Amino acid sequence: LTVLGIESSCDDTAAAVLRWDGAARVLSSQVSGQTDLHAAFGGVVPEIAARAHAEKLDLMVELALETACIGLDALDAIAVTSGPGLIGGVVSGVMCAKGLAAATGLPILGVNHLAGHALTPRLTDGLAFPYLMLLVSGGHCQFLVAHGPDSFERLGGTIDDAPGEAFDKSARLLGLPQPGGPSIEQAAEQGDETRFDLPRPLLREPHCDMSFSGLKTALLRARDAVMMEGNRLRRQDVNDLAAGFQAAVRDVLAAKTARALEAYMALSPAEPALAVAGGVAANLSLRTALAAEAERAGARFTAPPLALCTDNAAMIAWAGIERLRSGAPADDLTLTARPRWPLDSSAAPMLGSGK
Ligand code: ATP
Ligand code: FE
Repeated sequence: LTVLGIESSCDDTAAAVLRWDGAARVLSSQVSGQTDLHAAFGGVVPEIAARAHAEKLDLMVELALETACIGLDALDAIAVTSGPGLIGGVVSGVMCAKGLAAATGLPILGVNHLAGHALTPRLTDGLAFPYLMLLVSGGHCQFLVAHGPDSFERLGGTIDDAPGEAFDKSARLLGLPQPGGPSIEQAAEQGDETRFDLPRPLLREPHCDMSFSGLKTALLRARDAVMMEGNRLRRQDVNDLAAGFQAAVRDVLAAKTARALEAYMALSPAEPALAVAGGVAANLSLRTALAAEAERAGARFTAPPLALCTDNAAMIAWAGIERLRSGAPADDLTLTARPRWPLDSSAAPMLGSGK
């Protein structure tokens, strides 16, 4: 099976070719970011993103095929993110896929972007169902039990900001460069995480829900208190604030992961595993804490390589391959883009239907 994947739901235009012949091989994975286009606006501008996707998609598909050294005739299907995401971008991707499908007669597969992220550990580490997944990125934070390629159970998640968003906003408060995750992590290396006691909300609650929006405000207060004393934030203050912030996020995620693992292990999985994905999974302090929780619970810990953790089209092609292998039917040219598309068991029967 050889599948072309297309992704354009946020600010990355991506195309990839994957082959399955008993084992998965990523033949090519092209990603083109738009960070420069949105830099001046302090966030992704949907209109600009949609236009850039529309302009770039054909080129990315060509590049992906060329790098994989194959033509359209070697493909078995075209998989495309058909939601959730910024609707203009998703529509651009779906139109591109439909054009290719109409021209070649190839089947089209509408993929849930979150399912793409959630199925990636099977591509990279061959995890067996059911496994526990923590998806933690700039826009998402949730615990999912993956029961099958189109069956996910949500155990909980953030009730407000995603951690990546909190990292980015907090970096701004500290005068550190964007993206905030890596710059906070770097500053934190020289910092004392015990100097500022930042809140860890909902920590003792027995569920898996989290809140990160208050943390930003607490960081702002701590910063202002320092500035009142000394007028100016010194390097060490910034490092200590960054370390305190990172520790708070890590502790909340680790404690809730322990809760999620409890619920997951109660299912008696044959090959227990915890996987983490999303841009925030790059954080070493977080990874170490999650690995420790997995070990304590008796589960294997995996994290896909970063290029497959952040937005990419290989994960979309992979979700398409999973669907073909499961025998589920393809979509057709009536496939539509969905701005919202929750990934829990109640929504699972809709997966890929595009309606
Ligand atoms: P989504 O994929 O959910 O739509 P996104 O595209 O913003 O959102 P990703 O590309 O997966 O998310 O990840 C980007 C986020 O990861 C940014 O918020 C960034 O600050 C954060 N991040 C990257 N590296 C690190 C790190 N080392 N520590 C913490 N956060 C990090
Ligand atoms: Fe994503």
